[in-house]
Amino acid sequence: MAALNIAVVGGGIAGLTAATALSRQGHRVEVLERQSEWPAVGWGLTLTGPALRALRSIGLDQACIAVGYPIDSINNCDVRGVTFHTVEPPSLLGPGEPVMVGIGRPALSRVLREAAQNAGATLTLGAKVVSIDDEGDSATLVLDDGTRKTVDLVVAGDGVHSAARTAIGIDEEPRFLGQAVWRTTVQRPSSIDRLTTFNGQEHSSGIIPISEHDAYVFTTQIVDDRSADADVDLAADLRELLSPLEGEMAALRDGIVDSERVVRRPVMAIIVEEPWYRGRTVLIGDAAHTCAPGMVSGAALAIEDAVTLADELGARESVAGALDAFFRRRLDRARLVVEASEEMTKAEFEHRYAEEHEIQDRAFAALAAPA
Ligand SMILES: Cc1cc2nc3c(=O)[nH]c(=O)nc-3n(C[C@H](O)[C@H](O)[C@H](O)COP(=O)(O)OP(=O)(O)OC[C@H]3O[C@@H](n4cnc5c(N)ncnc54)[C@H](O)[C@@H]3O)c2cc1C
Repeated sequence: MAALNIAVVGGGIAGLTAATALSRQGHRVEVLERQSEWPAVGWGLTLTGPALRALRSIGLDQACIAVGYPIDSINNCDVRGVTFHTVEPPSLLGPGEPVMVGIGRPALSRVLREAAQNAGATLTLGAKVVSIDDEGDSATLVLDDGTRKTVDLVVAGDGVHSAARTAIGIDEEPRFLGQAVWRTTVQRPSSIDRLTTFNGQEHSSGIIPISEHDAYVFTTQIVDDRSADADVDLAADLRELLSPLEGEMAALRDGIVDSERVVRRPVMAIIVEEPWYRGRTVLIGDAAHTCAPGMVSGAALAIEDAVTLADELGARESVAGALDAFFRRRLDRARLVVEASEEMTKAEFEHRYAEEHEIQDRAFAALAAPA
């Protein structure tokens, strides 16, 4: 296929990975990100085996491992820190390689941005896309300052509340699952060298190393209302949610005092069942499928989407054929993660923790198959 002019909407995990994979194939790519700055602080996330495997396919796995923290197992504990279930999945990268990597969001963004720029992509900040007009064999984007850009293909990685999804006529909206997830970064205790969860009476929480010095703590909370109360003292509320934890985690909890570093997000889910494309606009990442955090796999799906889209554009004669092949390769896998994550959320609500871990084990085993 001849080189295309491609606009990527959104400089998140999906958009930046797509920019690298597509630029490497010779396409001319511009990423349009509405924020005026790249993330300098932020909470961490876990890159699972499928995420690392997809990153390896574009040569970025080692860069992520270098700035993150390699993890080989998951310890599920009670609130006293007593382990009742350990999972040691095989590494999808091969023997001796990490099973997962904990990583700070700013560090991951930096790796992806450098790769995209080195591959020739242009990254533009402060560029909010306000409309997309699809013209069949091209599409015109309008930015909030009135700038118009006509391109051969729009790759929309604009997240869970995607305006691109609505712009191309998909009416499905993300559903609120009655849960909020909280995160903050803390100094990593030397004893925490794996993904560790604590299942309590009310909430599940955990800690995941993201570098030699840092870790992130998370907890879930059952809530009726998806909107966050702007006036709450997030650090105090998070300490309260973590109050059942004992031992080393209790001391760590008491050190959470900076509300600026605490993030609370409503848990949303959507799987777009109809084609993720119309004409020359295609959705990737959370815009097409958003999952609850149980499977820690939203980023994995976003990275796999980006790599698969580039593969299909490289392999097919026509853009239409590539977009359709991309959608068909991705739908079942994305649905599996969205459904398993929601089942885990329900099991957690009812404190069926053993079942929750079984759902996770089954879904991880299925995701070990190539994307
Ligand atoms: C609290 C929490 C914890 C999570 N933990 C994990 C984890 O441990 N592991 C994991 O794999 N996944 C995790 N996830 C899921 C993961 O973060 C997402 O699946 C992933 O970030 C999706 O990437 P994305 O690029 O599709 O969307 P996003 O990361 O949301 O990026 C979308 C980008 O588009 C930009 N944008 C939006 N609208 C416009 C517009 N109109 N014009 C221009 N730019 C626009 C936004 O500013 C943003 O930069 C977590 C999610 C949450 C909320």
